[in-house]
Amino acid sequence: MQTDVAKNLHEVLDNLPQDVRLVAISKYHPNEYIEAAYQEGQRIFGESHEQELAKKVESLPKDIEWHFIGHLQTNKVKYIAPYISMIEAVDSFKLLKEINKQAAKHDRIINVLLELHIAEEETKYGLTLDDCRNLLAEGTWKELEHVQICGLMMMASNTDDTQLIEKEFDIAAKFFDEIKQKYFTNDNHFCERSWGMSNDYQLAIKHQSTMVRVGTFIFGPRIY
Ligand SMILES: *Cc1c(COP(=O)(O)O)cnc(C)c1O
Repeated sequence: MQTDVAKNLHEVLDNLPQDVRLVAISKYHPNEYIEAAYQEGQRIFGESHEQELAKKVESLPKDIEWHFIGHLQTNKVKYIAPYISMIEAVDSFKLLKEINKQAAKHDRIINVLLELHIAEEETKYGLTLDDCRNLLAEGTWKELEHVQICGLMMMASNTDDTQLIEKEFDIAAKFFDEIKQKYFTNDNHFCERSWGMSNDYQLAIKHQSTMVRVGTFIFGPRIY
């Protein structure tokens, strides 16, 4: 193994406050890398492609909690619904409804996060703050008994400008408080703030992240 997964993993874990969890982003990395992290106790892994994930689920330990972190097409939900622990990037009501429908078929409640679009980049998916406000204000989501909205997820701009990154995390953190207060005051499940990646997870922690999604720092560069 060229990458010292165990060493890198512990470097991240040693820097995390106790209440922040690590999602090890293993997309495009081989099973042996995932196994190396698993050996060290890591149980939450994130993937962004349904077919790649299906193969990994089949051959890796069953107590891994898989998070789907990529853009999910509605027609792919049925493939991951039987086992996925959390779908982190819900960016439309249509997708939320489909997750509910497929979860019902398996008699499950699937945990989800609403993905916010805060970064300036055009290419990023996600709900604008107003989209998200409107989705929640509309109210029908409350009838979806097979999804549990556990919080918010976002990606900061891919930049060296740490001030901009911190500003974006701060917007997300404040928005979380707004939504929590308005819709989820009595719902302890709504507690997750998934932000922070290899280059910015330390900044994310300063801005209330509860879940960092780190790939490259642990597993090395992805080979596409
Ligand atoms: C790939 C990916 C990550 C991990 O990014 P790294 O820079 O490799 O840490 C985190 N979140 C999402 C949504 C991703 O697609």
